[in-house]
Amino acid sequence: MTASFPRAEVVIDLSAIRHNVALLASRAPGAQTMAVVKADGYGHGALEVGRAAVEGGATWLGTCSLDEALALRRAGIGCRLFSWLDTPEADFAPAVAEDIDVAVSSLDELARVADGARRARDFSGLSALSRVHLKIDTGLSRNGCPPAEWPALVKAAAAAKPLIDVVAIWSHLACADEPGHPSIDAQAKRFDEAYDIARAAGLNPMRHLANSAAVLTRPDLNFDLVRPGIAIYGLNPVPVAEDLRPAMTFKSSVVLTKRIAAGESVSYGHSWTAERDTTLALVPVGYADGVPRSLSGRMDVWLGGRRRPVAGRVCMDQLIVDCGDDEPALGSEVILFGRGGFGEPTAREWADKLGTIDYEIVTSMCRPRIHRTYL
Ligand code: PLP
Repeated sequence: MTASFPRAEVVIDLSAIRHNVALLASRAPGAQTMAVVKADGYGHGALEVGRAAVEGGATWLGTCSLDEALALRRAGIGCRLFSWLDTPEADFAPAVAEDIDVAVSSLDELARVADGARRARDFSGLSALSRVHLKIDTGLSRNGCPPAEWPALVKAAAAAKPLIDVVAIWSHLACADEPGHPSIDAQAKRFDEAYDIARAAGLNPMRHLANSAAVLTRPDLNFDLVRPGIAIYGLNPVPVAEDLRPAMTFKSSVVLTKRIAAGESVSYGHSWTAERDTTLALVPVGYADGVPRSLSGRMDVWLGGRRRPVAGRVCMDQLIVDCGDDEPALGSEVILFGRGGFGEPTAREWADKLGTIDYEIVTSMCRPRIHRTYL
């Protein structure tokens, strides 16, 4: 039991997730769709989004860490799961036991995955094998095997049968959100070369490369499986019109109103001074709840059917809205950001003002004080 109604809430529209996944799957008709639900579903809730994504047509879910994938499996997710980045201490035996595909970028990682498979086999008595997706670094220079080391990795992985079953090769694009960027073709070419090497070593793997931006702009790179993330949440990474529906609305409510006279100043530092007599509405969300303090003085909220400016600095737990001559009722809904459908601010608007991307805005909504509600 909680003492009060949630002060801050993100409302997640799961029908939007289903719609977006179905739209993306229709853009990659010959491929399977892996919905990327790392970082707690980009702040939307990995389990709930994962279920909705499967209803929308995803046959895979993708996570960063093995722990994220294990949590989904243990919560009852039955589809294929793939995780791709762990620490050198990670134990891969549970991945085998729980039927989770894992990424391998190096000989060292291959040995650790094989060790996990061996221990899972010895423990269970079953002929456990690990389903592996070999990652080639085609130019992003993050994880992934450098092309010069690829032939050795492929050879070692092929020789590690039956403990290791190489089901896919994959890579990740650096500039897919800049359609036409020359690196996209350069990476695709290296990916083709990596595939030829894998085939020559006797492997017959699936291929996957495309994130959301590539699914929306480069259908030739869909291969066997696509890995959209941000677009399943309804946020479009490319300037191409698509019927994507943002799933997250961030809201709070008015908890106090007061009149102040012209000339009175508001919030820490007195950076804002009323030019006329006005009504202030107090909203109990602040930078500890994901409202960046650096938006102070340059953000609006949606309250009472219109945009209204936030007056003065955003505090840790509260912000103050300038309502002029209007007097919002206590409990009135305040939208911090939403779909933008009726003029309310959006996550993209925050990101543009902050010089970042909307990915960062929505993922920062995973906070203990923010209540999550699903529609
Ligand atoms: N694949 C990998 C390996 C990723 O790290 C990500 C996200 O960063 C995605 C796919 C999904 O990318 P996006 O959210 O741009 O669609």
